[in-house]
Amino acid sequence: MARCSGKTKAGNQCRRPAVDSSKYCSMHQPKANPGPKPEFPDWREQFGENTQALIGLAIIGVIVLWSMTKGR
Ligand SMILES: [Zn+2]
Repeated sequence: MARCSGKTKAGNQCRRPAVDSSKYCSMHQPKANPGPKPEFPDWREQFGENTQALIGLAIIGVIVLWSMTKGR
């Protein structure tokens, strides 16, 4: 995982690891407004929920297909 390209208040390179598909960490995201309390929940939480839902649906689909195939 690459390091964040952002800079700290002291002017040094940020030590946080950059998030996937970005050169910056969660604190230095260009689109995100810097602030202690963002209005929207963290994007990683939403992404995680969607991913978990997709995985759950995929598992259910595989089980249904497998049971149908086995029943023949
Ligand atoms: Zn950073």
